[in-house]
Amino acid sequence: MPDRVTVVGAGLAGCEAAWQLARRGIPVTLCEMKPHRFSPAHHSADFAELVCSNSLKAERVEAAGGLLKAEMARLGSLCVQTAYTCRVPAGGALAVDRHAFAAAVTRAVSQHPLITVARGEVTQLPAGPCIVATGPLTSEAFSAALRQLLGRDTLSFYDAAAPIVTAASVDLSCAFAASRYDRGGEDDYLNCPMNKAEYEAFYEALINAKRAPLHDFEQDPKVYEGCMPIEIMARRGADTIRYGPLKPVGLRDPRTGHRPWAALQLRKEDAAGTRYNLVGFQTNLLFGEQQRVFGLIPALKNAEYVRFGVMHRNTFLDSPRLLNADFACRTRPDLFFAGQMTGVEGYMESAASGIMAGIQMTRRLQGLPPVTWPEQTMLGALARHVSTPTADFQPMGASFGLLPPLPEVIRDKKQRYAALAARALNALQSVIDHENLAV
Ligand SMILES: Cc1cc2nc3c(=O)[nH]c(=O)nc-3n(C[C@H](O)[C@H](O)[C@H](O)COP(=O)(O)OP(=O)(O)OC[C@H]3O[C@@H](n4cnc5c(N)ncnc54)[C@H](O)[C@@H]3O)c2cc1C
Repeated sequence: MPDRVTVVGAGLAGCEAAWQLARRGIPVTLCEMKPHRFSPAHHSADFAELVCSNSLKAERVEAAGGLLKAEMARLGSLCVQTAYTCRVPAGGALAVDRHAFAAAVTRAVSQHPLITVARGEVTQLPAGPCIVATGPLTSEAFSAALRQLLGRDTLSFYDAAAPIVTAASVDLSCAFAASRYDRGGEDDYLNCPMNKAEYEAFYEALINAKRAPLHDFEQDPKVYEGCMPIEIMARRGADTIRYGPLKPVGLRDPRTGHRPWAALQLRKEDAAGTRYNLVGFQTNLLFGEQQRVFGLIPALKNAEYVRFGVMHRNTFLDSPRLLNADFACRTRPDLFFAGQMTGVEGYMESAASGIMAGIQMTRRLQGLPPVTWPEQTMLGALARHVSTPTADFQPMGASFGLLPPLPEVIRDKKQRYAALAARALNALQSVIDHENLAV
């Protein structure tokens, strides 16, 4: 009899992980604390509960979310195949009846002969092969057990992240590379200057922009000390952010020879400089509002967002320090993590990481080396994101900005994304065939 794997948490990631293991002949005990205990956002006893939106994002492969789902489908994703059985009309998006979706996933998992469901809160790390997928609202007792095993400073509880844009989309005719007072590397920062009129228009839009609602458990003002949303800081006075994240001191705009009225700094997100972080711009604005308002900064008028700023409760690991690209813990190789807690962001990204962890655990138990997901795929990009060291690790969803650029320049965005998607699916299929991953 092969080793039994314990999967903790029957959310999107845990169900996918259990499904992959069981389909590959590995017995699983799937532990879920509901209905004995509920997180503040979960309400149903069913597995794979969608706690907020019922959209699984775009369906077409020329959108990042669509490509991710296409890749998942090739690996036999339970969530993707179930979504198609209970979809509701939503334009170009794949949206589901959330109750039907959760019920169908629960049924499939519970009826699998190799999966045993154990209801009740897990408070200690189980012995033996284990995949932890307890999500962004992991119970307190279990969070404490994880901290004890992994180290106190390895778990974050709030996600307060600034947006990230692609370098190629920054209008360099309105930006200049320089460090403040010329300290540090010449091109450490890209500065996005504004004159007085531009700043005033930006400021007005910022203080009047629409914010995403916070949940009850996210209202605690202490939570965001030290990472105040830019729109809240702005409301303290017209010049507050000109003395904060937008301060122009130590900068000279080469176009005018003068200090700008205000300047946003962009900092490199990756060593290659393909993505930039908007420094100090943690925000809770609605995504569309971020695009509109930040687009008033001239250098960002055509910016493509790899991720938007977010603020919400989110338990996640400092994965680049803790995990390998196969989602296994570096210090305990039979312990894997999956889901939002690894630093992926979104329903389908969480489910995708569950698929990867389930496959990699199977390989480990079969004495096979881990699969290396091609860097051209969304799966590969997410696996790389969670395991590549970075100064300020923050969760990230699927995005074309995470994929290596094409060898040729395709200016038309739709055609470029279509080419990236075709390249990704070809690369994934080669790995599926080569590693015999189809079941
Ligand atoms: C409030 C909120 C709203 C969100 N809205 C969206 C959205 O609209 N769209 C989107 O794409 N993403 C959203 N996300 C982000 C993310 O995609 C979801 O949280 C997603 O469900 C994460 O999947 P998961 O499998 O990692 O965790 P979950 O789906 O949360 O599953 C974790 C499971 O583990 C169980 N569990 C926790 N602790 C224990 C324990 N100690 N013992 C046993 N079981 C335990 C939980 O009960 C739960 O069933 C949201 C996140 C939050 C917190």
